[in-house]
Amino acid sequence: MILPHGPVELPMFMPVATQASLKGLTPEQLESLGCRLCLNNTYHLGLKPGQATLDTIGGAHRLQSWNHNILTDSGGFQMVSLLKLAKVTEEGVKFLSPHDGTPMLLTPEHSMSLQNSIGSDIMMQLDDVIATTSPDNERIQEAMHRSIRWLDRCIEAHKYPEKQNLFCIIQGGLDLDLRRQCVEQMVKRDTPGIAIGGLSGGEEKAKYCSVVRTCTEMLPDMKPRYVMGVGYPEDLVVSVALGADMFDCVWPTRTARFGNAVTSRGTLNLRHASYGTDFSPVDEDCDCLCCRSKEAGGLGVTKAYIHHLTGKETAGAHILTMHNVHYLLNLMRKARKAIIADTYPEFVKEFFGKIYKYKISDYPDWAVEALKTVGIDLQHVPSASECT
Ligand SMILES: [Zn+2]
Repeated sequence: MILPHGPVELPMFMPVATQASLKGLTPEQLESLGCRLCLNNTYHLGLKPGQATLDTIGGAHRLQSWNHNILTDSGGFQMVSLLKLAKVTEEGVKFLSPHDGTPMLLTPEHSMSLQNSIGSDIMMQLDDVIATTSPDNERIQEAMHRSIRWLDRCIEAHKYPEKQNLFCIIQGGLDLDLRRQCVEQMVKRDTPGIAIGGLSGGEEKAKYCSVVRTCTEMLPDMKPRYVMGVGYPEDLVVSVALGADMFDCVWPTRTARFGNAVTSRGTLNLRHASYGTDFSPVDEDCDCLCCRSKEAGGLGVTKAYIHHLTGKETAGAHILTMHNVHYLLNLMRKARKAIIADTYPEFVKEFFGKIYKYKISDYPDWAVEALKTVGIDLQHVPSASECT
């Protein structure tokens, strides 16, 4: 995918730098991990430093000395999720300022204006987001249609379409027909990229997968498909198989601060006493700066060291954040390699095999079933003749 601040390779995971900073990492460290596109939150940047300061500095790239790409959300989701008093009307999202309680309104036009000031390489339309678990079908339908109308207003208000890429967001809850209607309308608007929104809100994984597959089946091949709010390694690997390209989530960085290491053998809670005397690397298969041995130019960090630091010293959170971000960026790099070599099914089998120690009965049903729909059979054990 070619973006104003350089090309990026798909599929990819985008770390979330909420306040123009990835918690626990400097921009240089993030760069050294190979990250070329990270996420900033419009809502937070709009509040502080605020639009006037962003205009004076010349945007968020300058603010955080980040010469690579930035994607910004519309600000809407943050408001609806952070502010209990947010109310959605046709005009926009109404809320009370968290600073002084004055009534404020985020419209599609205002969201575009803020993202134009931030100067993000990819900007997201303001959409009407409803939890997929909402029982209110009428409201889900209204939100889907409103999101299409708001996209039209965003396109109209976007000042720099030649240098900032606006992505639409497909809504429609778990209703596959609504999703199809939305895809049809959104694709007509011909935005440079397409997001599948409203997922990862606690819905059943099987339903998540059928929404992703339903949307990707109808989307144009040559446009990036971004599934918002997804960050668990298994979700990423399955979603890539279903045709998705881009993902973001705060989970890998947030969970690092609680002492959880995302590894090729699953997520390890390093606070557990059993790691107190475990002097092996955080992930034996990882070649990040922390996991690499001293001899190989790394830090030679052990599970026991992280166990010792967690909760007491911020260095523990920094080191683990670096490892977790590396793990996800690298997982997507390996997925890309496998896709190019036309060996993605083998990659998926090895990935699940390692996490579940090849105990097929432990594999999650939702993943097994979703992968079957695209011709990957996790439960198939090759016979001797196939191996030769
Ligand atoms: Zn590592």
